[in-house]
Amino acid sequence: MIAIIKAGTSKEQIDNLIRWLENQGLKIHISEGDYYTVLGLVGDTGKIDMELLASLDIVQDVKRVSEPFKRCSRDFQPQDTVIEIGQSGVKIGGGNFCFIAGPCSVETHEQIIGVAKAVKAAGANILRGGAFKPRTSPYDFQGLGALGIEMLEEAKKETGLPIITEVMNVTQLPLFENVDIIQVGARNMQNFDLLKEVGKMNKPILLKRGLCATMKEWLMSAEYIMSEGNEQVILCERGIRTYETYTRNTLDLSCVPTLKNLSHLPVVVDPSHATGQSRLVRPMALSAAAAGADGLMIEVHNDPKNALCDGAQSLTPDQFAEVAAATKRVLEAIV
Ligand code: PEP
Ligand code: MN
Repeated sequence: MIAIIKAGTSKEQIDNLIRWLENQGLKIHISEGDYYTVLGLVGDTGKIDMELLASLDIVQDVKRVSEPFKRCSRDFQPQDTVIEIGQSGVKIGGGNFCFIAGPCSVETHEQIIGVAKAVKAAGANILRGGAFKPRTSPYDFQGLGALGIEMLEEAKKETGLPIITEVMNVTQLPLFENVDIIQVGARNMQNFDLLKEVGKMNKPILLKRGLCATMKEWLMSAEYIMSEGNEQVILCERGIRTYETYTRNTLDLSCVPTLKNLSHLPVVVDPSHATGQSRLVRPMALSAAAAGADGLMIEVHNDPKNALCDGAQSLTPDQFAEVAAATKRVLEAIV
């Protein structure tokens, strides 16, 4: 349920109403827009007398929200969420487009520093790199773990780029203190214990869509994080599994405008994992920008042929520079 508060209502009056609602066992999500404030009521709203609430002087309207996700819904917060990344000055959402780039896995010190410098020069504003890798085969490279995170931190020191890397389980979280964005990967989208734990943190979380997840399931996972208090969630479409086998996954670009309608959270697109092929990254990146995405996550490797993971879908730094420049032209064209 949401209660829209009349313009010009004092903070004290709003606080009184919030206290009254909280005394009835509800949690309140407050969204202060430029013109009016929306109170989102979470919990057992069945016992709230809607007519009584609507009749209050300061209340303009009361509506039931039919979707099971509340805190991430556009009803609860009409304006876009803008997420600020650490102290870097980088923002995502609300018209702020981000380029997240870097290798699938951190491999060596030289590799990550080299790629970080190259993607920064090409316009990237966030560095990615996997330290804990969810691999299909236990015999494949599993990532450098804690050492990989240390190398990312060095690359951050050297370039000033904020860093994002994936957490695979709750025991790893203490290692993520200096990581700017924590990635919850596709395979963990419904690891509810992990979602609850990152929900207690004060750090942006990039939540990738599960391989077979519907948008509703995905938004419910975002809701798990937000219901613990962390509202800094970025959704990342990375392709879903269909019957098609020519591409690694099927990029569901229609999810971008759909999610932007349903939710206020930023949506970024990962054309690398979505397609599995480097030559498909450019057209899908440009399409994602045209579809209204708030950013791209692209795998970039200094030597894709010899990459320890996902070389076939990785761009070289020069290719990334060209894709970033072309994406900016698309963004200018669609304003
Ligand atoms: C990744 O981004 O490194 C990754 C493993 O992606 P996904 O979870 O989308 O497969
Ligand atoms: Mn990868």
